[in-house]
Amino acid sequence: MGSDCLFCRIVAGEIPATVVRETETTLAFRDIDPKAPVHVLVIPKEHYADVATLAQGDPALAADVLATSAAVAEDEGLLGDGFRLMFNTGAYGGQEVFHVHAHLLGGAPLGPMLARNLA
Ligand code: AMP
Repeated sequence: MGSDCLFCRIVAGEIPATVVRETETTLAFRDIDPKAPVHVLVIPKEHYADVATLAQGDPALAADVLATSAAVAEDEGLLGDGFRLMFNTGAYGGQEVFHVHAHLLGGAPLGPMLARNLA
């Protein structure tokens, strides 16, 4: 991907971000518009559009994203009280940036999973 992708540009160091953890294959940085006291985005450095293509294309890299998410959750002191880890995917999922990212949210009770019941 590269220059067209916002998160590829963050990986390349072309756009600043508040990085909280970096591994050989992943990067974790604070969301620019946090929705909770802790809101960190965890991405693979390699470009995959969404969690489905990542999981199908490189399951080991998907596992790296989960492992980095857990490490950040521990660093941020979230393991005791809990947290939410989610991947918005596609139009119905409300995805806006098409470089797969886990939202790690915590630091306060997060309320119901969805704002309203759609069932
Ligand atoms: P999503 O709707 O799941 O695609 O989420 C995209 C997220 O990226 C949103 O929570 C944005 O606030 C966040 N975001 C957009 N631009 C940046 C940026 N430059 N640095 C950090 N987070 C960003």
